[in-house]
Amino acid sequence: MKHPEPHHYDVITVGGGHAGCEAAAAAARMGARSLLLTHRIDTIGALSCNPSIGGLGKGHLVCEIDAMGGLMGFIADRSAIHFKVLNKSKGTAVQGPRAQIDRSFYKKHMLHALKTQKHLTIMEGDVQDLIIEQGRCAGVLVKTLEQRKRLYSHAVILTTGTFLQGEIHIGQQTTPGGRLHEKPSTKLALTLKARHFPLKRLKTGTPPRLKASSINPHAMNTQNGDEQPRFFSILSDKAQNPHMPCFITETNPSTHEKIRNALRFSPLPYGRKDVNAPGPRYCPSLEEKVIRFHTRQHHTLFIEPEGIDSDVVYPNGLSMSLPETHQRDIIHSIKGLEKAHVTAFGYCIEYSCVDARSITHQLESRLLPHLYLAGQINGTTGYEEAAAQGLVAGIHAVLKQRGQKTLPIDRANSYIGVMIDDLTRYPLHEPYRMLTSRAEYRLRLRTDNATERLTAIAIDAHCINVPHKRQFEQRKKQLHDINRLIKPHQETLAKQARQHVLTVDAMRQTLPALSAFSDALLEKYIADWRYAPYVERQDADIAAMRYDDALPLPPHMDYTSLGALSTECIEALEQAKPTTLGSASRLPGITPAAVIALLRHAKKIARHPDP
Ligand code: FAD
Repeated sequence: MKHPEPHHYDVITVGGGHAGCEAAAAAARMGARSLLLTHRIDTIGALSCNPSIGGLGKGHLVCEIDAMGGLMGFIADRSAIHFKVLNKSKGTAVQGPRAQIDRSFYKKHMLHALKTQKHLTIMEGDVQDLIIEQGRCAGVLVKTLEQRKRLYSHAVILTTGTFLQGEIHIGQQTTPGGRLHEKPSTKLALTLKARHFPLKRLKTGTPPRLKASSINPHAMNTQNGDEQPRFFSILSDKAQNPHMPCFITETNPSTHEKIRNALRFSPLPYGRKDVNAPGPRYCPSLEEKVIRFHTRQHHTLFIEPEGIDSDVVYPNGLSMSLPETHQRDIIHSIKGLEKAHVTAFGYCIEYSCVDARSITHQLESRLLPHLYLAGQINGTTGYEEAAAQGLVAGIHAVLKQRGQKTLPIDRANSYIGVMIDDLTRYPLHEPYRMLTSRAEYRLRLRTDNATERLTAIAIDAHCINVPHKRQFEQRKKQLHDINRLIKPHQETLAKQARQHVLTVDAMRQTLPALSAFSDALLEKYIADWRYAPYVERQDADIAAMRYDDALPLPPHMDYTSLGALSTECIEALEQAKPTTLGSASRLPGITPAAVIALLRHAKKIARHPDP
């Protein structure tokens, strides 16, 4: 066999953030020669903002990443110092597992996972340009400490996060940066611009960090984690670290007054006119909260530990980018933080991202084949959204090289499918964040059944390691055993579940043999029974949606003959030559009216195929 050239890889991933780690590791798990190129190895696995993973909608993504063999869930479980399920009073489908994470543990475990992954090489450098040959992306030009190199690959995955032409604003000051004290990625941004990638500016922000020993926890309420942790990964069975509490305090009228007085110094729209990129609506800065909710006297703040050996806490809810003296003054007006010492000031960052309508469902660029984009570069916000996209991009880069079929993930089987569909189909007006309300089939997309929904797909794609696969097989056997045990009582138990009177303990009282199985597994049964009538109805909708999606369109169709399509739609269809209604409907520029016209036509063809 011909030996591969030293500078040739199957997949090159640019960026060591959450998207990059998952992408590079997934490709390597599939046996591809995978290179992770990033500015600094010591920032691999860095949590740029909050020291927590999961939450509403995001927890679903983490469980799905785990179900597909990804790293985030298991590493979050190993690094967690506080587990809490959010929305516990609501139905299982919309509950969000979340964990406070020890930042240094997370980085350590992530780096270890990457370093010990076969077929994966890690290299430091600044990627400055893309190599384009025969109309496709064929590698990257990277500047390392010693030299500039051309590295070739079958696919390149860009996961540059907030670094593309990043600008950090604190008050009236602006400095170029990808994160605090890290240089931005400027040359690569110019390359994308020169190649007519549709770029947009977005903004996000982070709170100041405080010295833990300088705050007064006695003046605040303590929030402990759940006694029974709910893990993200099927590989986790017990908490690995001591538990640390969070503290709860709140802003007050004096805090709000100070903010209002300082607004003219803010880089946000009420201050500087030049900082006007949209920010995350669901995670506003304190300045924005005071303006938008002006009748409220208080905003809750969660003081979260950053780690077991860390003397730093993260004041969640206190994101701001006012000048430093104002930040200090505002913090000191809050109960429990009167003497807080600020270890790093809050800031906001503006950065460029690519309009994700220019990428496919496989996250491959429509403008430059063999180039994949994943993470914040596609306009999302959050670690979990980034990691999920990285995983999908890494898998697809390898599947394409091998000529294998794409992953069958869609809105009906995963939050990952919902996110990718949303991103690639709809215009982005603000950083995209996963929410349970985005999933129309959410009753069947629960965290407790992510394994059943996705692991078989991952096994088919060969992107899952042996321990994960073994655990999946073991779980399958356990479910089989439980099914056998409950069969005679199924009807009664299901009825009790629907009446909301069935608990795990009650199940074990009826059937003591169920004591051999975990609470989590039995809770999955209760949720399955409870949701069954609704899920059955949804299944009919899903079957209809999938049927329509797969309706074939003739390859040489004359779109002008339909009459109802605009010139833009006809151009887009003629250029892409979609083979199914689903792929036509996901093309940029295809309007809902055009989809209906195409659906009518596709149904007509299905009823009367050409002889
Ligand atoms: P990142 O984690 O940003 O990683 C990008 C990686 O690419 C880095 O390793 C960088 O060194 C590398 N890189 C970039 N360009 C190059 C190049 N040319 N060559 C080589 N390497 C390169 N999320 C929330 O959910 N809520 C929040 O409130 C929130 N606030 C945030 C506040 C700030 C200030 C920042 C910076 C981020 C915030 N985030 C927030 C976002 C969260 O950090 C990101 O969504 C997530 O980390 C994105 O992951 P990523 O992998 O796409 O990119």
